[in-house]
Amino acid sequence: MPVNGTGAYDPQNVFARILRGELPCKKVYEDEYALAFHDIAPRAPVHVLIIPKGAYVSFADFSAKADDATIAGFTRAVGTVARDLGLEAPGYRLVSNTGIEGGQEVPHFHVHLFGGRPLGAMLP
Ligand code: 5GP
Repeated sequence: MPVNGTGAYDPQNVFARILRGELPCKKVYEDEYALAFHDIAPRAPVHVLIIPKGAYVSFADFSAKADDATIAGFTRAVGTVARDLGLEAPGYRLVSNTGIEGGQEVPHFHVHLFGGRPLGAMLP
């Protein structure tokens, strides 16, 4: 079920629980700004989720409320993950679903990183 990307943060959402260590994940990368782990239902040979450590519901929420250092640190972490996974040369795709019409299902801001095969053109 898609969620409201501008609603209140639910501390029991699945990614919050992963951040607190209450649920397992297959970790790819972690620093003070971000945690990256494999998606539980991958849609590509590489399908990694990158999440900030703060309580942000969606991209809308993150871009409005996070301070500049957090936005910079998170953005840099996304690039580092893609580079560390060897995707820079072949290429990759970043997606962040936001809110009901964006098809967001987990109400903690995340970026999907897809790669490992030709992804084709993606238009809605
Ligand atoms: P959204 O539609 O919110 O952008 O995508 C949420 C993503 O989270 C989906 O691709 C889904 O497969 C993934 N996901 C949902 N629950 C879990 C979980 O418990 N662990 C992991 N690793 N991924 C999850």
